[in-house]
Amino acid sequence: MANKLITLSVTVIAILYMLICRTSVLFDQRDILCDIIDDEYDYVVVGGGTAGSVVAARLAEDRENRVLLLEAGGFYDESWMFSILALWPMLQKGQHDWAYYTEPQRYSHFGFKDNLSYWPRGRVLGGSGMINGAQYTRGSRYDFDEWAANGCEGWGYKDVLPYFLKAEDIQIDNLKTSKYHKEGGPMAVSESVATSLANLYMKAGQELGYNITDYNGGEHIGFNKIQINSRGGTRESSAVAYLGRPRKKENLDISINSFVTKLAITDKTATGVYYVRNNRKYFVRAKKEIIISAGSVNSPQLLMLSGIGPKEHLEEMGIPSVADLPVGLNLQDHQVFLLHSRINRSINLSPSSFTSPWALMQYYAFGSGPLACNGGEGSAFVNIDNKVQEMSYPDLQMVIYSYIIPFTKLDVKDNVRKDFEAMDENVNGFTFGVINTHPKSRGILKLRSNDPFDYPILDPQYLQEQTDIDDFIAGIRIWEKNRSVRNTSFALMLTGNV
Ligand SMILES: Cc1cc2nc3c(=O)[nH]c(=O)nc-3n(C[C@H](O)[C@H](O)[C@H](O)COP(=O)(O)OP(=O)(O)OC[C@H]3O[C@@H](n4cnc5c(N)ncnc54)[C@H](O)[C@@H]3O)c2cc1C
Repeated sequence: MANKLITLSVTVIAILYMLICRTSVLFDQRDILCDIIDDEYDYVVVGGGTAGSVVAARLAEDRENRVLLLEAGGFYDESWMFSILALWPMLQKGQHDWAYYTEPQRYSHFGFKDNLSYWPRGRVLGGSGMINGAQYTRGSRYDFDEWAANGCEGWGYKDVLPYFLKAEDIQIDNLKTSKYHKEGGPMAVSESVATSLANLYMKAGQELGYNITDYNGGEHIGFNKIQINSRGGTRESSAVAYLGRPRKKENLDISINSFVTKLAITDKTATGVYYVRNNRKYFVRAKKEIIISAGSVNSPQLLMLSGIGPKEHLEEMGIPSVADLPVGLNLQDHQVFLLHSRINRSINLSPSSFTSPWALMQYYAFGSGPLACNGGEGSAFVNIDNKVQEMSYPDLQMVIYSYIIPFTKLDVKDNVRKDFEAMDENVNGFTFGVINTHPKSRGILKLRSNDPFDYPILDPQYLQEQTDIDDFIAGIRIWEKNRSVRNTSFALMLTGNV
């Protein structure tokens, strides 16, 4: 009896200790922020998202450099949900999301209200890396090599691999000896596994003739378990890894709630930025460089507000042209096509899997279980034409989420909602996401006005090109072949053209 009591007490103390440690990860790092901003720095970095956090931290490694990072959003301790990866969908449309909507789409999104596509984007130190699914995917070696061949010197796969390795702290045991992975870098990479479905997805892939491959390793094509940026079960964003955990650098000032409205340009040289902080306008000079890392929507918007963009469009907006460049004219975005599969055993995740006492205990005590994964467990990269499988970048990415994604919670039209109300999120099953990796459709990003607070016009023109539709159909055919998990049920199509 005494022994049992001691064991119980030790377990309770361990859980409490882990609970305090785990939840406090993000909550004692505010000392990296600055109150007073000087008038001049060597470098000014605009946007402290995934990229800006790394750039600012790396520039500040040279003690001679004085660096300022300006982030429009708040600090990452403002929501406890940031650290729990499984909750990433719940961060959408909240305080830390810019929540953009596209123009009504002409070739897709017929199932959505007003044919609009919603674009979440993180508005917080850490940017979209604080609200994303955190699947760690470096990209295909063939893409990098193609960039280099097209003139992007220094961006070939052999050039970028050392930087991927430098950034990484691999936590997956069987990859620790791989020459494509490395321990000791700032960004942890772990596996997203919570259920026995993960192994079934691998089995299904093999039955379809694919190898089980490390998609961040030598060969991209094949099936694998999802790799995520997470350390001990907690989201590992680049802001935490590069700025928060290393603590305050004296030569790096980080200012949140600081919205950059325009670049100052003299004789075709950017010399400083105008920004708004606490409802006041400020200006800061950059002696060496300004780095615009405000994300794929705000960066082109800021360039155009500053006179860099298509001359005619800027004139329409009443903005004097500084450089007539095709900013915003090559907008491209991939889509995900979600397919539901029912299964006949209760081995998948469901809403109750995330809230059960066992899930909480697993997460807080061991950093594992449903809350520590991003909801997805299986990943595949495939070519549509198997003959070129070894030789080129993949055409499709498949992400397999181990729960039924409830479509009824999306902005779907009422008639679509009715069709899917029957598909309860508590039903046993999984969701197969088909993603086109090289969309051919091209759209446009334009200013709505010359007011920096107005959201820009986004028109990706999804599925304008027939090849994009063909890619999705090919992905659906692969999903249909999947007989490894029995009782596979019918698919759902939200983008109406297919
Ligand atoms: C919901 C979602 C899920 C995703 N899932 C994955 C995934 O699983 N795997 C993956 O690899 N990728 C994923 N992505 C994509 C990935 O998160 C982005 O590609 C990446 O974070 C982009 O980094 P960035 O630095 O370019 O932009 P961001 O990280 O978006 O950073 C831009 C920053 O600039 C700030 N900013 C904007 N305008 C201004 C301004 N005027 N002044 C000052 N600051 C400004 C923003 O607030 C933001 O913090 C996902 C994205 C989303 C939205």
